[in-house]
Amino acid sequence: MLTNSLVELDRQHLIHPVSSFQDHEARGVRVLTSAKGARVTDAEGRELIDGFAGLWCVNAGYGQETVIEAATEQMRRLPYATGYFDLGAEAPIKLAAALAERAPGDLNHVYFTLGGSDAVDSTIRFVRYYWHAKGQPERDQFISVENGYHGSSSLGAGLTALSAFHDGFGLPYPWQHKISSHYVYRNPVGTDPQAIIDASVAELRAKIEAIGADKVAAFYVEPIQGSGGVLVPPRGWIKAMRDVCTEYGVLFIADEVITGFGRTGPLFACSEEGIVPDLMTAAKGLTSGYVPMGAVFMSDHVYQTLSDGAGAKAIGHGFTYSGHPVSAAVGLEVLALYEGGLLENGEKMGARLMAGLNGLMDHPLVGDVRGRGMLAAVELVTDKEAKTPLPASVQPATRLFDRAWEHGLIVRSFAQGIFGYAPPLCCTEEEIDQIVERTRKVLDLTLDDPEVREALR
Ligand code: PLP
Repeated sequence: MLTNSLVELDRQHLIHPVSSFQDHEARGVRVLTSAKGARVTDAEGRELIDGFAGLWCVNAGYGQETVIEAATEQMRRLPYATGYFDLGAEAPIKLAAALAERAPGDLNHVYFTLGGSDAVDSTIRFVRYYWHAKGQPERDQFISVENGYHGSSSLGAGLTALSAFHDGFGLPYPWQHKISSHYVYRNPVGTDPQAIIDASVAELRAKIEAIGADKVAAFYVEPIQGSGGVLVPPRGWIKAMRDVCTEYGVLFIADEVITGFGRTGPLFACSEEGIVPDLMTAAKGLTSGYVPMGAVFMSDHVYQTLSDGAGAKAIGHGFTYSGHPVSAAVGLEVLALYEGGLLENGEKMGARLMAGLNGLMDHPLVGDVRGRGMLAAVELVTDKEAKTPLPASVQPATRLFDRAWEHGLIVRSFAQGIFGYAPPLCCTEEEIDQIVERTRKVLDLTLDDPEVREALR
């Protein structure tokens, strides 16, 4: 009863992110009511394993009492403090210091945002300011990677390379350029890692030279492409991209919104790759989704250039909620959980997840399994040799999502027929095994879809 009225109110009033309004109205909302660890419960009392940690964000898992207490205590003591007028509060200062200590290299300065999109947006503004401060305002062109996702702000959505974020919005802007994705499974140069790296290096070089090396401000890249279908580059790819940027004096920006905070194993994926970006963005696992927060990390030289360029003038960029004390208190507590055992558990569970998913390669519909740590994907095909994608008529984004849901699993189901996994780092062995078993069940049922049968023939 209560659920019915909520579904109706939702239909009438709540706009959902990245949705077809019409489809959503037809399907209606599924209301979640509670969660604990890696499991969520819906309004009908169904318990599901959250194999996607909300939206790849609840890395620490649900119901962590120390986090809840830290937020409550901060709200009681000081729910808000602005960072304007040289004011501040203990939690954001401590969190910035803790992050600087753990971030790769000299990324020693942190600007807090409310999430990933405004972190990306802030980065674009800081980069612009940087080149103005350097006396090179004509360096205003940005390059990103096909299949990349850099959020949904007016500027960032144009660096994102997914058509739904461009069509009807007049994007991308002319200063936003792309190079091809590394997409190992479907790369035209084949699957050899070195060949893929060489091709990307050549393409990035050619792109920079075509735009004009003195016009390119920055290269924006995810260490692993998330929303594009969990595309894992060959080891060494990101370092090779970093080296090209260094060679041309182009700023290198790593978007660790998904990969940060233990998702791929360590706190930051860049550390594992042995690279230090000039700037880095993070969000999601930073507060494990308990409250909103994102961050821009700036290296010493970027910070110093902005500082020297502005002198006594204010740098006109800031939000009311930058460095929100409650979010920062949560961030500190979540960090303590990661370092108190969750990163370690995530590494173990990630290896188990990958082994389990690799075991699905014997299934007639599984063309590719890829991932790193607790970030993984299974790509479905109807012909392994030809790598034929599932027919669009199967509507993987909804039908396969629904099927997983019916079997007690939340998994991202991309429209191109890819399952995405990003379970909380607190998962138990049993939960990881259930994620894999339930996936196999969904695959088996999908074999019986008439469109799939037809395509398999
Ligand atoms: N950058 C990356 C790599 C992301 O995956 C996302 C969100 O999924 C964003 C930026 C945007 O973050 P948010 O949704 O918090 O605005």
